Amino acid sequence: MLVFKFGGASVKSADAVKNIVDILKKYPEEIVIVVSAMGKTTNALERIIEHFVNRDEEHLRQEYNLLKEYHMEIMHGLFEDKGNKAYVDIEEVFGDLADRLGEEPTMNYDFDYDQVIGFGEILSTKIIAFYLDHAGLKTKWIDVRKSLKTDNTFREGRIDWELSTRLVKKNFVFNGENFLVTQGFLASNMNNQTVSLGREGSDYTAAILAHMLRAESVTIWKDVPGVLNADPKYFDDTILLDKLSYLDAIELAYYGTSVIHPKTIKPLQNKNINLYVKSFVDPDDPGTLVANLAYEKLVPSFIFKMDQVLIRISPHDFSFIAEDNLEIIYGILHKHGLKINLQQTSAVSFQVIVNNDKRKVRQVVDELEEHFKVSYETGLELVTIRYFDDDTIRRVMINKTLLLEQRGVQNIQLVVRDLG
Ligand code: ASP
Ligand code: MG
Repeated sequence: MLVFKFGGASVKSADAVKNIVDILKKYPEEIVIVVSAMGKTTNALERIIEHFVNRDEEHLRQEYNLLKEYHMEIMHGLFEDKGNKAYVDIEEVFGDLADRLGEEPTMNYDFDYDQVIGFGEILSTKIIAFYLDHAGLKTKWIDVRKSLKTDNTFREGRIDWELSTRLVKKNFVFNGENFLVTQGFLASNMNNQTVSLGREGSDYTAAILAHMLRAESVTIWKDVPGVLNADPKYFDDTILLDKLSYLDAIELAYYGTSVIHPKTIKPLQNKNINLYVKSFVDPDDPGTLVANLAYEKLVPSFIFKMDQVLIRISPHDFSFIAEDNLEIIYGILHKHGLKINLQQTSAVSFQVIVNNDKRKVRQVVDELEEHFKVSYETGLELVTIRYFDDDTIRRVMINKTLLLEQRGVQNIQLVVRDLG
């Protein structure tokens, strides 16, 4: 049994969905198919959620209509016969979404977010399951929320591995079907309320299911040829990394290679399951294999995080930054869910680099100011180079000023401001 994961770009149009059928036909195995929301649907739903909590009816309706039109256009490209049952089902899902949006927002933003955000994956998986069936592929649609159970951490659910393993094994069975289609990114708590696993979490879902079902391998289908040593958005001559150890894959993902979600690797490594990252445009190309591999080193890889904020924190008195102060600082960052991308401690100050999530940064800075002297700088870049050398550092530093540097054995991290 194989696990395939198709992300938003691979299901963004009727043609993209048809392409999936061509890919699936190449494989004789039974396949669990994990699918994300179509195209930029999750971003659209995030805007809908903003309008919902702000009770901005007019924009809410506009965005809802756009989302529906977008999905209907895909439906029309897939099902010529307007009598196809898919239309009834998808209308029903949009009806449920409208009902949900007609309710009052609660005081819990993260809870409301998860109750709405999940519609993207429900829509995409229903459409795809209907289409595979329509194309003659024996398919069953599965609601992953009935199997993956989490705590109540909305927007970042923590999996209950024992219970979920039992439910996944019970529910993900092939009964004459070749394909089981299910949602990435979603799970539910003990009250059956939807809990999402964090943005871009569908890769993680694929890994969880592969681990629990002991799949032979996982394939993540992307619009790039595999894992590259740099993002082609920022670099001209990128190199395909054809083989990666689990450790290198974890490191690259952790520092921000957007191709694989950082949580994806561990569940696979623990069961020695191979991960392929392949192009849905050129499905016969080998792509990248992540596996239990050994080698000396790789070509340098570059990871850029843009739009970073450097927060400098120092005590009001002349006390040093010590454990008690750090406890307060970490507590505040954790409370507002702001993740540290890099940190540096000196005797008299503590500096953290975070993503420019404006709402959270403001809350964190406000609260830090109750205890410390705080200043911050925006518009920075965090560059990580794995397997760095002097040449690659020079290449990265062209036209930049350096604010912070951290050097390890394999990795270097540079916080820079672009002068261009
Ligand atoms: N649809 C979700 C997102 O865009 C999950 C995913 O695509 O992995 O974040
Ligand atoms: Mg994705």
